[in-house]
Amino acid sequence: MIVTILDGYVDEPAALGVPPYLSHYVRYIAGAAADAGAEVRYLTVDAWRKEKKTPAGDLLVIIAGALVPGKYLRGTPISYNETQVVASSFPGTVILAGGSAVYGFGEGGGREARSLLGLSSFISHFCSCDADAAVYDYLTKGSFSDRLRTTAEWNRWALKGAFIAREHPDHPNPLICEIETYRGCVRYLNGGCSFCMEPHFGRPVTRETEDIISEVRELSGQGVVNFRLGAQSCFFSYMASGVGMTETPRPNPAAVKELLCGIRTAAPGLKVLHIDNATPAIIAEHPKESRKVAEHIVEYCTPGNVAAFGLESADPDVKEANNLNATAEQAMSAIKLLNEVGNIRGGNGMPHLLPGINLLHGLKGETKRTYKLNFDFLRQIYDGGLTLRRINVRQVLITGGNEKEGWTGKKYHGEFLKLKRRINDEINRPMLKRLVPEGTVLRDVYLEKFDGGASFGRQVGSYPLLVGIPYEAGLERFVDVKITDYGFRSVTGVEYPFPINGATVRALEVLPGIGKRRAQAIAAARPFASFGELEKLIDDKNVSGRLGEFISIGNSD
Ligand code: SF4
Repeated sequence: MIVTILDGYVDEPAALGVPPYLSHYVRYIAGAAADAGAEVRYLTVDAWRKEKKTPAGDLLVIIAGALVPGKYLRGTPISYNETQVVASSFPGTVILAGGSAVYGFGEGGGREARSLLGLSSFISHFCSCDADAAVYDYLTKGSFSDRLRTTAEWNRWALKGAFIAREHPDHPNPLICEIETYRGCVRYLNGGCSFCMEPHFGRPVTRETEDIISEVRELSGQGVVNFRLGAQSCFFSYMASGVGMTETPRPNPAAVKELLCGIRTAAPGLKVLHIDNATPAIIAEHPKESRKVAEHIVEYCTPGNVAAFGLESADPDVKEANNLNATAEQAMSAIKLLNEVGNIRGGNGMPHLLPGINLLHGLKGETKRTYKLNFDFLRQIYDGGLTLRRINVRQVLITGGNEKEGWTGKKYHGEFLKLKRRINDEINRPMLKRLVPEGTVLRDVYLEKFDGGASFGRQVGSYPLLVGIPYEAGLERFVDVKITDYGFRSVTGVEYPFPINGATVRALEVLPGIGKRRAQAIAAARPFASFGELEKLIDDKNVSGRLGEFISIGNSD
């Protein structure tokens, strides 16, 4: 039996699988299939797109779950139409896994998700529970199930599926593996936030520290060097006490330390270790323990780390109507705490640990005032001298007619667009300048795309900054970049140190103060044996002085 996994990428609140990420879903399914004795093959949807050949195999597992598809630098999630094409041409059995198997295909926030009806003649099973368990049951018992994996299966399949990381086109670097620490949300007690399905899993099921470490060890043995502990609703709640009794359990710094320290030992070649989600209410309610957790994150993880806070709305009426997790005041105190502990620049040029803020529009109870309150909240953060790594403003995905239940959906779409513009103009750009001041060198930026005369890349990790280099700098390689300018959500820079003797004229032009005329003169006078020779050529001391901060003059140039 050959099981082929077509990775159409997931992008869910607690699971990312868009390259360079490899989601845990893929690895668990591979592990379950291998455990059942099947031969497992893997291909990404981008690999399939190149020739659009029907994949070989007996069972095809299509993974799709970009519920609110964003803009991706590369690696576009599988669409409804592509799923239809590949599923209808496959001669064997096809199943659909990931969020799309439950909610349909998201086509943008504020819009209705596309239903699965049109796919039902090609797809035998839509996994509404754990796809790995469904695959295992099909292979061992002949029929698909809709059940949760047991803890023993979870651990076994996580280990057995680690081999699939080697098949990913980004292996070994910049590949980054999403690691799950627990499933569910501590707010299951009161139903959780109105838009979220996580509380429906019931009481959170937490993985034992040694089990997570074993998975990391196995992945490390497969050559994986980048990890993100991103698959959980709140990293600060890992092994927290009071789960099941309160929606703000007390964080457990000792358990977090044991986990992070164990991961560092298990993966000696590790390059990146990041986290993702955190609940501001928990941090605000337990500042002492949360500070300790943040300190452990700073000590054992790598810089550029982000704890994404799902505030969703600073409007108290919207919080009330949607049972959101935190007040604006709680979020503010959590933002302050993380800034105090984590806003120290690390070796890769980024601060060690910063908060991100998620705002969600289209919820119940929203009015025009909500937009003002959300903007004012962000303004207060900026004016208070605090730094956010990222502000994510989005609209709810409409599924199954939830608009009828009082959600405002796209009712205030004009206000939504205005808010986004205002945040870009007044917050995002100045915040970026605060985050990475001009002249900062960002290390190990992986170049992924050349478009419109510019090269684009990112560091590996949680919500990496988009970095543009305004000339052709090559692809699929790591470079250090010195920041020269800012967009709304991206920065511009040049390779550092800049190879003055080998660079193209176009690249010379974008150096600070150079421009077309001086670039031509520099190109004509090359090679330079010393900085003094270059200085003589440039008729302006300020410009040549500035240039000295950027360039290298060496034999290799
Ligand atoms: S805090 Fe809210 S959004 Fe986050 S996982 Fe829990 S219910 Fe979902």
